[in-house]
Amino acid sequence: MTDELWAVRVDWPGVVGGVNRRGTHEPSEPLSGLNTSYLIGDEPERVAHTRRRLLGSLDAETWPVIRAHQVHGNHVATIDRAGFDALRPCPSGLSSPHTDGLVTCEPGIMLNLAFADCVPILLYSPDPLIVGVLHAGWRGTAGAIAAQGVRAMAALGARPAQMRALIGPAICGECYEVGPEVVEAMRALPGAATTIGEGCVTHVDLPGLNRLTLVAAGLSESSIEMSGLCTYCGEVAMFSYRKSGGGQGLHGAFLGIRPTPG
Ligand SMILES: [Zn+2]
Repeated sequence: MTDELWAVRVDWPGVVGGVNRRGTHEPSEPLSGLNTSYLIGDEPERVAHTRRRLLGSLDAETWPVIRAHQVHGNHVATIDRAGFDALRPCPSGLSSPHTDGLVTCEPGIMLNLAFADCVPILLYSPDPLIVGVLHAGWRGTAGAIAAQGVRAMAALGARPAQMRALIGPAICGECYEVGPEVVEAMRALPGAATTIGEGCVTHVDLPGLNRLTLVAAGLSESSIEMSGLCTYCGEVAMFSYRKSGGGQGLHGAFLGIRPTPG
């Protein structure tokens, strides 16, 4: 499902979420478009307006938003209301320190991470209802954050074979040239042989590697949806770190459980 705000949206019972697109923008201006981050020098009023539009379109304007101080690690934090005290205030709501993945089984809480080329992974357990959002750049991918996310949700009662995943817009294998240190870090991952190209210039398929890591963690292949959208070369405009050379805006992955009426 796509529209003017969203590159992809989840279509899972009981939850709302997706990854927003960059939308109409001026290509020469790195912050132009639907930037979701307050931390990169954008006008706070503009960011607030964008975030209100995105949350409003999910019927989630009033939900507490939980973000993370993303450090390209593989730590996944479990967010419950009792643990709110451990979170730190940030302009968007509350933030979990040194975290690249958030999971929760609490309704009415919006999990939200920021991206520009790295892989957004949205996870869903239908019964019990649990959601997770993960940020997987090359370090997170090498650290198998996808498997860490599945583990964190399993600790809350999710059964991996019943889980579903959406791998959102990210830099594609053809656009993602890497050095030997990246290849070396990926060697041990399931499917590394088929997702890492050989030759003078090496390309790594980060979305593909994360898909295989989810399969190795117990998800069925058919339960993993790939957006197929590249942040660098795709037809849907997204923020791209590599394309802008830094200083660019960030699109967001959002996911939360709808409160049950009454
Ligand atoms: Zn591409």
